Amino acid sequence: MQELNGKPVAAKIKAAVQAELQQIKKTLSKQPNLLVLQYGNDQASKTYANRIEKNCQEVGINFSYEQFNKNPDGFKQRIRTANLDPEISAIMIQQPLTDNLKNSLELISPSKDVEGITSASLGKLFTGLSGLKPCTAEACLEIINYYGIKVTGKKAAVIGRSNIVGKPIAMLLQQADATVTICHSKTKNLAAEIKAAEIIIAAAGKAALITAEMLSSNSIVIDVGTNFVQGKLVGDVDYLNASRKVSKITPVPGGVGTVTNQVLMRNIVKAFKNINLNNK
Ligand code: NAD
Repeated sequence: MQELNGKPVAAKIKAAVQAELQQIKKTLSKQPNLLVLQYGNDQASKTYANRIEKNCQEVGINFSYEQFNKNPDGFKQRIRTANLDPEISAIMIQQPLTDNLKNSLELISPSKDVEGITSASLGKLFTGLSGLKPCTAEACLEIINYYGIKVTGKKAAVIGRSNIVGKPIAMLLQQADATVTICHSKTKNLAAEIKAAEIIIAAAGKAALITAEMLSSNSIVIDVGTNFVQGKLVGDVDYLNASRKVSKITPVPGGVGTVTNQVLMRNIVKAFKNINLNNK
């Protein structure tokens, strides 16, 4: 079994981002600026924002964070003003959002949508146009490419069909010429779908959903899931048993998540360059 460790993949992207930022410093007086907006007090979201702040500091991206409570209109208004603010080049809205604010994601200007989650960004992805792509989906492909895994003609099963994780991953795999099956909570025989595939992307958010019995010796497993079980971070795959059986597998932690964070940094630089170099 080969472990598909995310750390060298992340390090490679980070080095490229740092080099680009050095170049930007030489040519422009401005720097990329990420604004993270949170509505409410969800602690996991705050922890995630802290991690993003650390990643930004490490590569040299300016970071600011604003939290809103009991003022949904003020929250939406802040997104609108951030869209117009030339000092802000990237906007992230922390999830989960309350039902009355779910549509606020759509308010983000596509040019500053560094998570690639607005319908405009997703539309570009689905039609093959260049744009900011969802970070986790790109991270999966980065791992696949870094480890030289051939995708063309292979059968892939994506478990999970959310707009920002499952569907974009399926789309990128399909664009890389895989034959893709999307599985979800109503899929009748998940084990059979997984057995039929060589590349398996687990993105359901259910610990131990995918067992060693569902996998085979030529399975290549990318585990996107992040679940906390007794205070420990685990993926969707029973790693201990699966790793004894499969051909290749990403660990959790140290797999997709590590790479996702650096893809986000790269998207922030991309957005900055699109805004500032195209408007020069
Ligand atoms: P989601 O809840 O929006 O979607 C989960 C999907 O899984 C749904 O489409 C659902 O149909 C499917 N599903 C649920 N139970 C299933 C089952 N028993 N069998 C088959 N399919 C099932 O979640 P999401 O936002 O798409 O995130 C998925 C997972 O990825 C979560 O664990 C999340 O924390 C993780 N995640 C990881 C990263 C990363 O960088 N590693 C980034 C984003 C999300």
